[in-house]
Amino acid sequence: MAILNIVKEGDPTLRKVCRPVVEITPRILTLLDDMRETLIEANGAGLAAPQVGILRRIALVDLGEEIVELINPEILETEGEQEEVEGCLSVPDVWGVTRRPARVKVKALNRLGEEFTVEGEGLNARCLCHEIDHLDGHLFTDNVLHILTPEEVEEMMED
Ligand code: ZN
Repeated sequence: MAILNIVKEGDPTLRKVCRPVVEITPRILTLLDDMRETLIEANGAGLAAPQVGILRRIALVDLGEEIVELINPEILETEGEQEEVEGCLSVPDVWGVTRRPARVKVKALNRLGEEFTVEGEGLNARCLCHEIDHLDGHLFTDNVLHILTPEEVEEMMED
């Protein structure tokens, strides 16, 4: 396994629409393993393939109990609304309040090519939406309601 370089805002890769995975090849499996290691090392909540320079519809989300691998994820249902703070490994040191669904249901393929669904609420819902947004070239800063000031960041870190 390897730690991959995480590209930062300004890199054109982050603005591209990623292509679906057609076949789960050994290369894709290696990418999943490397992304997992990179996510853990970066201490993030999620990581999408374009963030490591790969324009494929693949994302990993840390749902608390486990890191879930999503291949070709699609949001099936959303419910409610929440406004909370989020950040992104590709937009370092920036935190902002976004409006996201309170709950989402997502379908995707696992590494065996089997379809499954995963549901998330709260932080997990935000994370699922955030990572799937990456696959369409969107960053959380595109629709941010409010960027936290340095004082607000300090307060948040104290909590
Ligand atoms: Zn992100």
